[in-house]
Amino acid sequence: MKTSSEKTKSQIKPESEKYSMESCSNEDLEEEPPGKHTILGDPEDKPPGITKKTRYKFFRDVPSEIWNDWKWQFRNRITHVGQLDQVIPLSAEDKTQLKLVAMRYPLSVTPYYLSLINLDDPDDPIRKQAIPSTMEMTMGLMGVEDPLCEKKDTVVPGLVHRYPDRVLLVLTDICPVLCRHCTRKREWRKGGWVRSPAEIEAMLAYISQNKTVRDVIISGGDPLTLSTKHLDSIISRIRAIRHVEIIRIGTRCPVVLPQRIDDELCSMLTKYDPIWLNTHFNHVREITPEAAEACDRLLRSGVPVNNQSVLLRGINNSVEAQTELCHGLLKIKVRPYYLFQCDQVQGTEHLRTPVEVGIKIIEGMRGHTSGLAIPTFVIDLPQGGGKVPLQPEYILAQSEEELVLRNYEGRIFRYRNPAKPVCHELSAGVLCQDVGALVNLPQESPVPVRVRRSPK
Ligand code: SF4
Repeated sequence: MKTSSEKTKSQIKPESEKYSMESCSNEDLEEEPPGKHTILGDPEDKPPGITKKTRYKFFRDVPSEIWNDWKWQFRNRITHVGQLDQVIPLSAEDKTQLKLVAMRYPLSVTPYYLSLINLDDPDDPIRKQAIPSTMEMTMGLMGVEDPLCEKKDTVVPGLVHRYPDRVLLVLTDICPVLCRHCTRKREWRKGGWVRSPAEIEAMLAYISQNKTVRDVIISGGDPLTLSTKHLDSIISRIRAIRHVEIIRIGTRCPVVLPQRIDDELCSMLTKYDPIWLNTHFNHVREITPEAAEACDRLLRSGVPVNNQSVLLRGINNSVEAQTELCHGLLKIKVRPYYLFQCDQVQGTEHLRTPVEVGIKIIEGMRGHTSGLAIPTFVIDLPQGGGKVPLQPEYILAQSEEELVLRNYEGRIFRYRNPAKPVCHELSAGVLCQDVGALVNLPQESPVPVRVRRSPK
């Protein structure tokens, strides 16, 4: 969270320009945009339902080479309800209400992502993620602005240090699509900032001085809204810090702006191996040929791709929806990593599900598909408590000698519990070894060892 003096240092736009078509600074986009195309809504057309047909309906004058240019996609985001109305017909009342919602929680969606919406379906899962809902306001008092208390763990502006060995680097609050379930919704009204050079220097200095930091997560907003050149300059500095082992990038670009994963970006990332990338698919319909190609380009460049989805009411809150999503991800070699309980953020209550839903989904998947396809269901605890994994209960009873377990079919099994281990208590901790197979410590071990047989 930034103070008012910090705001002046950042590239904050005047109110009228917030999240406008031009909200990416010229410094970050080195080329001029090819020009904004009019959205040509034709009421005579049938709703398309698939990408290319939709693309040609609303952006039919856009040549492919322009459509596939991420900077064009970015600059031509739909950011006003009036523009949206040309694509998705809205009643006068809807328009008035959505304008009010967008004043508090702005709207931004790329032409590409918009084109995935099936206009025939009012419950379309892409639509629910990208298009404002009046429920963001009517249920707006529930939840808090910063449920994870990132402000509390912010050590210098933009750098969150919560866990001992890793830090989160928040480079910008700009995203190609403003997801209606976003945990950082509170940042949207600040109007599109990018960290200043001085702020970046302060973040790098902190990482250099803190030798416990072995993992740096570059996030936002979406850091891939910055130019490749700018990212290169930051990542090269992080990579030069000897104690930093891995760099992770958190981005939704493969899903909402796959054009961004171009050869230039991939070549740059390859230089700083090992780099991991976490993305955010929530529904199988987001796994388009374009998205699959983007992930493939990353994988071929040596960048592993993991998925962190959010459990969302009416979007992916069923065993079927999650199974389809995770199977689709495995097909494009993206690992389903986390399934997050939707955070208790103001303006997202209508999309949140009871915690039991997530546990039931994991239970419904376990045994019916490979463990590789099952993400870890987690709650990110409020007040910065960190992530807690939640699992269905498979242990029905437990004693020192035996466990009673149920399997995925509900069948009950007894399992003999091996005898408790012998512990070799070391001054620096406890090392355990099974009874009857005593540990072979190196003779020159400087640590005095006391062996204790645990009681039967
Ligand atoms: S891409 Fe991530 S940070 Fe950006 S709006 Fe969506 S959820 Fe929020």
